[in-house]
Formats: sequence, C-alpha cells, structure tokens
Amino acid sequence: MTRLLKGKEAGEALTQKARQQVTELEKMGVTPTLLVIHVGEDPGNLSYEKGIEKRCTALGAAFRRLVLPSDLSEEDLLEVIRKANEDREIHGVLLFRPLPPHLDARRIENALLPEKDVDGMTDLSLAGVFAGRKVGFSPCTAQACMEILDYYGIDCCGKHAVVIGRSLVVGKPAAMMLLSRNATVTICHTRTKDLPAIARSADILIAAAGKPKIIGKDYMRNGQVILDVGIHAAEGGKLCGDVDGEQAEGTAAALTPVPGGVGTVTSVVLVCHVIEAALRQTEKRFDDRSGTR
Ligand code: NAD
Repeated sequence: MTRLLKGKEAGEALTQKARQQVTELEKMGVTPTLLVIHVGEDPGNLSYEKGIEKRCTALGAAFRRLVLPSDLSEEDLLEVIRKANEDREIHGVLLFRPLPPHLDARRIENALLPEKDVDGMTDLSLAGVFAGRKVGFSPCTAQACMEILDYYGIDCCGKHAVVIGRSLVVGKPAAMMLLSRNATVTICHTRTKDLPAIARSADILIAAAGKPKIIGKDYMRNGQVILDVGIHAAEGGKLCGDVDGEQAEGTAAALTPVPGGVGTVTSVVLVCHVIEAALRQTEKRFDDRSGTR
C-alpha cells in the first residue's frame, strides 16, 4: 500500500517553532506582517492566497493585500517595492508571478530586499540556497518538499533523487537542497531523453513539470517516494497533480496527495518565513541600537 505523505501533519510540526517566535515578537510589540502584491487579478491564485491568509491568522501574523493594475509601469511597481522595503511594519513580501510581459521580471524581483524576500525570488536568496548559506529565504515550494521528507523521516543520503522541472521556483532549488542532503541528483526537463527510464531509476522522485498526470506507471518503480508538486484544475472542479495518483497507488512506497500535500506545506513555510523575517529584522534593529554591530 502507498503511504500518503500528508501536508497537514508536516505543516503542523513546522508551526510549533513559529508559535514560539510569535510569542517572542509579541513581547517586543511586533506583529509579523506579510504584504501580498498582485499585478492584475488572476483567479488561479485565489485558493493559494486564501490558504496563506488563513495560516497568517492562525499563527498571529498580519496579512495585507495590494492589487495593482495589470498595465502599471515598471517604475511604478519598483516604487511600490521600494516603499515596502522601507516600511518597518512589513516584514515579508510575496509578489505573485508571472508578471505581465511588459515588465522586466528579474529587475523587479531583485528590487526587493533579501531580508523581506520570504518566497526566495531574488538572486541573493537563490545564491544562498546554492551556497548553503542563510541569505534571504529559500523558495517556499522547494523547501516544503524538504520539510515533508524530513517530517516523514525519509533519508536522502546516498539516494538517487530525480527532479522533473528546472524552474528557479521549484526544480533548481529543490535539486540543490537534495544535494545538500547528500542525495545524488538528476535534474530533468523538456529536452531530457527517455525521461520515464530516468524517473524509474529514482529512489526519490520530485514531479514539478506542471503537466497534469504526466507521471504514469511507465515513470514508476516499486518502492519509490514521490513528491507531487503540480497543481492543476481537473474535471468537476477537482484538483490534480503531475502524478497520476491512481497509477502510483500500490507501486510508490509513499506519495504526497494533491490537494493536501506539497501545496499545504508551502503556505505554512511562507508564513514561517514571514515570522522568521520579522524576528531577524527586529533583532537587527535592537543590535543596531545597542551598538553591538
Ligand atoms: P514552470 O513552468 O516554470 O517549470 C516547469 C519545468 O518543468 C520546466 O523547467 C520544464 O523544462 C519542465 N517540464 C515541463 N514539461 C515537461 C515534460 N513534459 N517533461 C519534462 N520536463 C518538463 O513551472 P513551476 O513554476 O516550476 O511549477 C511547476 C508545477 O508546480 C506547476 O504545476 C505549478 O502549478 C506547481 N506549483 C506548485 C506549488 C505548490 O505549492 N504545490 C508552488 C509552485 C508551483
């Protein structure tokens, strides 16, 4: 039987440290605050955003939402980010992407201060992931995958981990995190030859191609751990992942469900990052004032 790696349980475990940090912050009169920025409204982001807001409330963090017109200029968006950088009451910023094509996404993403970059989108945050240093924050979805592996005691050391997808949001950072856990990592993408054979050779398979149910029986081998990152609208208003769950049942040793798997942990990781950001920024201010830096 395939074990379901449920995001709710893994997420709950994460919130324990966050609750303690919120209590510490309360004593210093600080409410960790997330600013979510939309450039245009995309109904596809709604359920993820609702999940984040719910988690913020549950953990004692504040949630602010800014919806900007989709035709706003690059300079105007940069100004919004500059203001968020300067605002001491905002500790973390989540910018929903992709941005409209008339905007230079990398320029805008890199305008955010790494200490407020709670979704790991700046070059500095990503460099931190690649160098194994705490600069900024790691991309939440990739980290959520690691939190699930850790929570369920899945040891990566010496295992063959195959990551399908090479985006900066999921595939590449997840591969680096697996490497730092001593897995032997293969990254696959649209030009990879004989993907099913490579996928079958995995002990741990991370599916982040963004294609509904492409991971069928021919990609699987008995006893694999499969993390399904994909989220897609399926028939009847349901959601499905990149993995065909029915085909994985009985073959995979363990699988994250969709919904209720990686996505659930991703929103918890994001709010934990906001709380951690608030703590780092507050401690730095205290240190600066007392001259210990
Ligand atoms: P993306 O489109 O930026 O990247 C997809 C990657 O998969 C690319 O690198 C591409 O080379 C590769 N790919 C696409 N089709 C492939 C194929 N047929 N074979 C092999 N490789 C293929 O997407 P992304 O932002 O990395 O997101 C991936 C998926 O994860 C999407 O379904 C997205 O909705 C989902 N997602 C989930 C969460 C979460 O919290 N669970 C968060 C972010 C993204």
